[in-house]
Amino acid sequence: MRAVVFQGAEEPMTVEDVDRPEPDDDGILVETEACGICRSDWHAWRGDWEWIGVMPQPGLVFGHEPVGRVVEVGDNVDRFAVGDRVTNPFNLGCGSCHHCRDGRGNICETSIPMGFVPFQTGAFAEYYSVRNADFNAVTLPEEVDPVDVAGLGCRFATAFHGLVHRVDVTPGDWVAIHGCGGVGLSAVHVADALGANVIAVDLSAEKLARARDLGADRTVEVGAVDDVPQAVKKFTESSRGADVAVDALGIAETCRNAVNSLGKGGQHLQIGMTTSEEGGEVSLPVDTMVTDEREFYGAYGIPPNEYDEIFRMMGTGKLEPGRIVSETVSLEEVPGVVEGLGDYETVGIPVCDGF
Ligand SMILES: [Zn+2]
Ligand SMILES: [Zn+2]
Repeated sequence: MRAVVFQGAEEPMTVEDVDRPEPDDDGILVETEACGICRSDWHAWRGDWEWIGVMPQPGLVFGHEPVGRVVEVGDNVDRFAVGDRVTNPFNLGCGSCHHCRDGRGNICETSIPMGFVPFQTGAFAEYYSVRNADFNAVTLPEEVDPVDVAGLGCRFATAFHGLVHRVDVTPGDWVAIHGCGGVGLSAVHVADALGANVIAVDLSAEKLARARDLGADRTVEVGAVDDVPQAVKKFTESSRGADVAVDALGIAETCRNAVNSLGKGGQHLQIGMTTSEEGGEVSLPVDTMVTDEREFYGAYGIPPNEYDEIFRMMGTGKLEPGRIVSETVSLEEVPGVVEGLGDYETVGIPVCDGF
């Protein structure tokens, strides 16, 4: 099968013929219809995430935001049959540890990140496998367009899981989204659907315009103000600060700006993961976080059981993940798109749909 193959950190990736993955008795083999192209692919390609154990080796096939049709089913799989359309979270659970049993498969004790390890290769390929399919795979409504939902396993879903299940967003809350890349724009759209007053923050006027299209009520252009947290606070009543702030990028500046844009009792949601610059560490104003009782939450992917909520909101048009998609490309174009994500010029989510 044709696949995009990693050749080493910052080496050009190649499109080659490789062996199809062979799922075990608990897994399924899926023919790829679409796969989102993500900043996480770029991080892994750069060799950024050694400190969290992501050390891709040459030969790896990336791609962790897949949609496809089942073509082979392992003997132990009950819930799926050949021909079913499926998607899955990028972080695959074991299905039996206490977190998986508790509905939190995204933080499974032995979570496997698809497309980042050699024994669970990704979907920048004609076929991919999903382990523990009964637990991890999710049936996709037949009517949804594969391109529209290709970002679901990662960026859109993480924004949804974070805003709906980690922090408390109630209608009228001020929610400040720092960073309007794919995950940030997803967060803007989800927060708007939840009835929040949304403040979008970014360096790029073009991304802010997109954020306004997706429901941002106020915007802060980072280069145009002296003090980003103050500019966010000014939009809130008596400049009291945001109720919820999201770092949707993962650099020290956006993380601190987000925390500092919160009011007393506010909640920070960290979605972006850091670059080699931070190496996983960001210093924060701990004392005022204590005295203001500001809270810090992480959101990592989505458990498979939360997809239905997204599909129901898509069914009535409240959520339209396809609106975040920026372009569709062929498998041959994937290496160039991944390698180009470092310039931060992509507006929205690029999706590969040509296999
Ligand atoms: Zn992703
Ligand atoms: Zn587990």
